[in-house]
Formats: sequence, C-alpha cells, structure tokens
Amino acid sequence: MASIALRQLRKHFEGHDVLKGISLDIAEGEFVALVGPSGCGKSTLLRMLAGLEEVSSGQIVLGGQVINDVPPRERNIAMVFQNYALYPHMTVAENLGFALKLQRQAPAAIAQRVQQVAEILGLEPLLGRLPAQLSGGQRQRVAMGRAIVREPLAFLFDEPLSNLDAKLRVQMRTEIKSLHQRLRTTTVYVTHDQIEAMTMADRIVVMRDGVIEQVGTPLELYDRPRNAFVAQFIGSPA
Ligand code: ADP
Ligand code: MG
Repeated sequence: MASIALRQLRKHFEGHDVLKGISLDIAEGEFVALVGPSGCGKSTLLRMLAGLEEVSSGQIVLGGQVINDVPPRERNIAMVFQNYALYPHMTVAENLGFALKLQRQAPAAIAQRVQQVAEILGLEPLLGRLPAQLSGGQRQRVAMGRAIVREPLAFLFDEPLSNLDAKLRVQMRTEIKSLHQRLRTTTVYVTHDQIEAMTMADRIVVMRDGVIEQVGTPLELYDRPRNAFVAQFIGSPA
C-alpha cells in the first residue's frame, strides 16, 4: 500500500476544464470516498490515477514518487469498474490468475496466490466454475479477487455497486469494507450513494464541477458542512 498525493491536478478536454486544480493527500491505508454530482469529474480523476488519462498539469504522487509518466501497468494500482468484466470462457481460478500469467509467473506460484485470494474472499468452492455459473455477488467478488491478486499499492473503485440490487449492494458494501480492514490497501472509492460514503469511508471528498468543495470525516461533513451544497449532498440537516 502507498500514500497518494494530488498536487494542483488539472484536466482539459477540448477547451473544457474538467478538473480545475485538485489537491488532496490520502494517507497509506486510508479509505477515501469521492462523491459529487454526475459530470463533476470523479471518473476522470480516477482514470488519471490509474494512468488511463493524461494529466494536463499538476502532479500525482504515489508513495512519494511522481507517477505522471508511469504507464498504467507499472503503477500497480488496481481499478474495479461497475461493469466487472470477467473472461467468460475462463474458470474463476483462471480469471483470478490471469494477471499473474501475463507476468509470466510460474504455475505453482500462480496456483498458490489464487488459493490465497480465494480464501480471503471465500471463493474456494467456486474456483472451477465459469462466470455464467455465478450469481451477481459472486461475480463481483471474483472481480475484487482479480484486483487484489497482484497486491496493488492502491485500489480505485468507480461506482462498483451501482448495477446491483439493494440487498446485494448492502452485502457487498460490508464485504468491501471488511476486505479493506483485512488488507489495509489505500482505497479511493467513487460513489453517488451518500450512505455508502458515510458508512464505508474514513474521509469523504465532496466534488463539484471539477473542484473539491470539502474534505472531512463523515461526522465532520455531517455536523459542519461548509455550505448548502455539501449539506444537501451529504444529507445533513443543516
Ligand atoms: P463523473 O464521473 O463525475 O460523472 P466524468 O469524470 O465522467 O464525471 O466527466 C466529467 C466531465 O468530463 C463531463 O463533462 C464529461 O462529459 C467530460 N469528459 C469525460 N471524458 C471525456 C472525454 N474523453 N472527452 C471529452 N470530455 C470528456
Ligand atoms: Mg463517473
């Protein structure tokens, strides 16, 4: 795991300023939720962290190193999307081990790591199944397994639960949280669900239109929202 620092991060798309100078320090092992209205730049920010989007100006610092020009594969940051794409023709075990195979790790080492990850996520009984033979929640867990198999320095989640029904969403919320408690991997979690942010995060970052409006613990934002926008977004009575 590693700390993350954003220094005056900006992103322009065709004359349009999407991120307008984002500065933020995330501690090693911290779980930060990123919230804000649709279009405010949350996904763009995550994609920049993952290296999928170029930085217009400013710096991204991972574990003390500026990584602006480090290619995605070398950042060792894992991103979990809302459409968890598993390889349909591969078993759960093969899906979990695929990234390690690409790294040309030895089959025995891959098998051992896949077994470890399966234990962490309770996937052992499912290792021989194909994705089509899994429930939605099980698929989501395999997607998380694929994210943790390489022991990433940080996790990025982009609204990972928004396609799930309410019951499963609550269950996955608990699972992601307990996974974080076990692994303590630095996490940036984008959600438009305030309850998710309030119950899961150490700190919440409220964004609006490419800037950060406020950063604080759930309680701080609830008790002392800086303005009406934050209050309304967090759902505090102020
Ligand atoms: P959020 O995830 O908060 O809903 P996004 O980061 O997806 O917001 O988008 C922020 C803004 O950037 C939106 O106005 C969106 O249309 C724009 N945008 C995102 N990606 C691109 C792109 N590749 N080219 C041009 N504009 C983009
Ligand atoms: Mg988005």
